[in-house]
Amino acid sequence: MSIKLNSYILPEDVVEKMKVKIEETKEKNIELGFGLCRMKYVNTLKPGVECTGDECKIVQMPECPTGLYVGGFHTHPSGVAAPSIADLKNAYVNDVECVGAQEEDAIRCFVRLGYRKPDDEKYIISKFKEIEEPFPKVVDSAQYERWKSARDEIWNKHFQTVDVK
Ligand SMILES: [Zn+2]
Repeated sequence: MSIKLNSYILPEDVVEKMKVKIEETKEKNIELGFGLCRMKYVNTLKPGVECTGDECKIVQMPECPTGLYVGGFHTHPSGVAAPSIADLKNAYVNDVECVGAQEEDAIRCFVRLGYRKPDDEKYIISKFKEIEEPFPKVVDSAQYERWKSARDEIWNKHFQTVDVK
């Protein structure tokens, strides 16, 4: 079944490709992903350029063989199906970001509500810089709480969350 992501359609074959990436992540314990592209005047998403490891960390290959880049999908090898602030920043600047978590065996997409607003974008980027993501290896609970409340505020205010799997 295809999934509606706001104005976009995420077709079954792309969801299947996401599932394959999650399985591959389980085997290799490495972050994997690909861009999401749409053709002009068509809202059905197609997979774009693939990324491996650190390439997926900040931005997933913001290019498309054909069509327009609207966001990306990447796996969280050790994490859950919740977004980082970097994921939300990418989802805000583009339109959508999907994550696949091997631990929960889940796929979730975060879709920006409404149009990009320069002030909101500046705020999200400043939070991202201020919180210093990604974390160092050892994080104290105060640091984690600060990160989580900033993340949740941005997540709740600007995004629709769609459970794909
Ligand atoms: Zn992520």
